Amino acid sequence: MTAQSSFVIAPLAQPQLPVAGTSQTFPVRRIWCVGRNYLEHIRELGNDERQPPFFFAKHADMIAQDGATIPYPPLTKDLHHEAELVVALKSGGSNLDPATALDHVYGYAAGIDLTRRDLQMASRKKEQPWEIGKSFDQSAPCGTIKPASEIGHPSKARIWLSVNGTIRQDGNIDQMIWNVAEIIAKLSQQVSVGAGDLIMTGTPAGVAAINKGDTLECNIDGVGTVKVTIS
Ligand code: MN
Repeated sequence: MTAQSSFVIAPLAQPQLPVAGTSQTFPVRRIWCVGRNYLEHIRELGNDERQPPFFFAKHADMIAQDGATIPYPPLTKDLHHEAELVVALKSGGSNLDPATALDHVYGYAAGIDLTRRDLQMASRKKEQPWEIGKSFDQSAPCGTIKPASEIGHPSKARIWLSVNGTIRQDGNIDQMIWNVAEIIAKLSQQVSVGAGDLIMTGTPAGVAAINKGDTLECNIDGVGTVKVTIS
């Protein structure tokens, strides 16, 4: 006789990411993203540079693993890459002090905020939510997490993204308008943050369209890499 499950449907598998130097994994709770955190990117999209950055979200099961092949998503004709530093939290709280916010960081990874730009722009124009542009299957490729206990808390590091080997984005995380500690503190005013949360910290300039067959690789010096192919 098989045991009766207390769930009416099978519970979902825990989304997770590999951690460098161990066979253990990092369980993902929430994925928050920062919009407009690099000045040159705000300018390239024609947005108001006096407005502060802000947050939007993707779902935990929208993670794509390093090496994944991702089907070109539906409804869009303008899929864009956004290279981003990803912060992984081991603890959290509300109304955190920026001076101690980094104590909540487990580690860092390279990530790509895949964006259906045409749908994002259309929703922005209609003052509708951004989900259709930002939140879709496998829209959050993320690489192996490097623990802060090994690499510290990077505040200056080259971040770049290549498409089929050609560099498209090339910036430095020291160009962020809100740094990592400020991002965690700001987000914790809006919602409680906690262990398992990932924060994608915004993208430098150079975002552009990608096509079926393209291979994207995001690298951050001292942090890591993530590579995916669009099919
Ligand atoms: Mn982004």
